Amino acid sequence: MIGLISATAAGAVARDRLAAAWPDRTRVYEGSVADAVRTAFGECERLVCFLATGAVVRLVAPLLADKRTDPGVVCVDEAGRFAVALLGGHGGGANELAREVGAVLGAEPVVTTATDAAGLPGLDTLGLPVEGDVAAVSRALLDGVPVALAAEVAWPLPPLPLAAEGAYTVRLTDRLVEPAEREVVLRPPSLVIGVGASRGAPAEEVLGLVEAALRDAGLAAASVAALATVDAKADEPGVVAAAGRLGVPLVTHPAGELARIAVPNPSDAPLAAVGTPSVAEAAALAGGGELLVPKRRSERADGGPARVTCAVVRRPGRGRLAVVGLGPGARDLLTPRAAAELRRASVLVGLDQYVDQIRDLLRPGTRVIESGLGAEEERARTAVEEARRGHAVALVGSGDAGVYAMASPALAEASDDIDVVGVPGVTAALAAGAVLGAPLGHDHVSISLSDLHTPWEVIERRVRAAAEADIVVTFYNPRSRGRDWQLPEALAVLAGHREPSTPVGVVRNASRADESSRLTTLSELDPATVDMMTVVTVGNTATREIAGRMVTPRGYRWQHREEPK
Ligand code: SAH
Repeated sequence: MIGLISATAAGAVARDRLAAAWPDRTRVYEGSVADAVRTAFGECERLVCFLATGAVVRLVAPLLADKRTDPGVVCVDEAGRFAVALLGGHGGGANELAREVGAVLGAEPVVTTATDAAGLPGLDTLGLPVEGDVAAVSRALLDGVPVALAAEVAWPLPPLPLAAEGAYTVRLTDRLVEPAEREVVLRPPSLVIGVGASRGAPAEEVLGLVEAALRDAGLAAASVAALATVDAKADEPGVVAAAGRLGVPLVTHPAGELARIAVPNPSDAPLAAVGTPSVAEAAALAGGGELLVPKRRSERADGGPARVTCAVVRRPGRGRLAVVGLGPGARDLLTPRAAAELRRASVLVGLDQYVDQIRDLLRPGTRVIESGLGAEEERARTAVEEARRGHAVALVGSGDAGVYAMASPALAEASDDIDVVGVPGVTAALAAGAVLGAPLGHDHVSISLSDLHTPWEVIERRVRAAAEADIVVTFYNPRSRGRDWQLPEALAVLAGHREPSTPVGVVRNASRADESSRLTTLSELDPATVDMMTVVTVGNTATREIAGRMVTPRGYRWQHREEPK
């Protein structure tokens, strides 16, 4: 819960906006400000105080106990201009909260913790449990002192400027190790524990077995991602309670699916009871991975028969491939989601000129794999290979990465052993449309005139179809030095079905610093004004030039109403 405290009328207005935006996450504390802060500090995970930082410092100072447990505190000034992360930036979530509050209120988030200031993610905000001397290793990262990554499992991490060797270490492991001096241990969620249980097996027996299995195998409970069992045990109270106490989800699988998984220790009892010769081992192995602890049975103090079995599997780290559209060029046409994916990636793959467009957004330590024009398939393959190795990869393209770009060659290479996320981008056709007016107000297509990958006959057939169907056409890749006859030819096909006066918009470098555009007509277009940085949009028979803008009516009815008979 986020506690909200204000003192003045202006503060209360901002407070109420936040409360209205987040009704389920916030609670308003009224009454004397001092009492409200004290009560909220004891009751909430985070506080937003619409008060001066000084006032808040004085009020919370006597309440501070431990940075691991104190709530995160954000202060918002009277005018709502700044959201200051005052206390608990990382662990308390105040940095994140300052950004969120800033987004709701239009305030500038003010974040002063060192790692954020340098664009580095805090080691305690990676979403993985962390042990050891976080402060010392963070400082080393920040000071540029070499920090080694000792990755015992491949897991998609955000970029950290880590080296092969160094006096400090970030260890990524699910093994039960104590962090050494100058070391932090990150716990990837890499372990899956399969559990079988007879009816009525108590939670203590499940937990006792799981803990013993982990301890004996030298594995860390903090790396357990899930308990897994057969569907029939989805409501078995002891198993459900054990998952709850471990703080992990309970995942269940149909018996038929488990029966198909090869296991080292099948037996007849579960086959008779639930229809699969293995529950613990098969459920643990259902997502793939390596069996670290084969089936073992619980031991009961009273010497009775074991009621629980378990097995432990290390699942492979799943890489992540984000296919990110960067938009047509202008920074403010790059979506916030695209920016977030760029910061999240530890490996960036793209054409050098697109990488240049966003290099400043990358976090320090991001590995950039850039190549020149023409290496599309190699780029796609590289991106997929890096994701398969367990990295968080962003494959970037201009406009939308799925339009005449990298998404399809990449996904043609990818199998289902990686996660894929697409982030849409503003295409050149849309950016040009906005420059020209409203040329895409009715049905429209994009056609690429590049006959590098597509035979000209196919391209011409599509242009003809668009011409016959009276569809607005945006030509991509319209003309290059070695390819100059395709555009005139395509325009001639359209001219067979449209008036010479049909509006044509030519937009070069839409949204970039040297953007230019001109509105002309089918008969007057000079192909020499067109190059590879250009898109050409040809109107349909209803498209008009109105006040210097290109406008395609939404429907023909509208046109009948508007035009004098
Ligand atoms: N994925 C991109 C298209 C890549 S194909 C998108 O969704 O927009 C490359 C062609 O796109 C160029 O030859 C040019 O025709 C067009 N193009 C890309 N960016 C452009 C821009 N900013 N202005 C005009 N045309 C652009």
